[in-house]
Amino acid sequence: MNTRPQIVFASNNSKKLVEARSILESIYDVVGIDQAGISGFDPEETGDTFDENAYIKAKTLYDMVKRPVFSDDSGLCVPILGNEPGVRSSRYAGLEASDTDNYMLLLHNLKQQEVPAFFHCCICHINDTGEHYFFEGKCEGKITRVPSGTSGFGYDPVFVPNGFDKTLAQLSPEVKNSISHRYFALKNFLAFFTK
Ligand code: IMP
Repeated sequence: MNTRPQIVFASNNSKKLVEARSILESIYDVVGIDQAGISGFDPEETGDTFDENAYIKAKTLYDMVKRPVFSDDSGLCVPILGNEPGVRSSRYAGLEASDTDNYMLLLHNLKQQEVPAFFHCCICHINDTGEHYFFEGKCEGKITRVPSGTSGFGYDPVFVPNGFDKTLAQLSPEVKNSISHRYFALKNFLAFFTK
């Protein structure tokens, strides 16, 4: 019998759900939005920071389900570009832009220089009494001159994490999930319950 309390993750991305479940399974039974019986969840991400957008998603969901929830918001930050694309990572090359459009624009703006960059992830948790908490995670590395690899999503083909000589899109999902910004944010979230 499953006696762990449920927590609703403001995502239906199956890969993110698997990752969150495996990290939080000792504490929570993580369910996605569909499983929680919610439809039409699509809050507008109007914040200027990852924290603001993560809070918007978590609060919108909490108001719908009135039980513990968490959300995540993430993106790629390039210090030489003032931390762009940042919160605009998914729409860097426009609202309808594909992942390829976005990373090709990034390479163009960087004039094919190899520069330091990092992925940032913010998790926002709202507990059963409505209090909210933030947890952060980072994955540092550099932007490559040319894209390589087919695994993953987003900017993975142009990002080489520190300590590796391959892009995230050339690494296995298992390796990526053990060094990613989301992994470290989820670990910090888990530590909050186990400390
Ligand atoms: P979201 O927080 O999952 O909505 O991610 C926002 C955007 O940031 C994505 O559409 C990607 O462009 C980028 N992004 C976030 N995490 C990753 C990652 O792990 N790899 C590559 N791109 C990412």
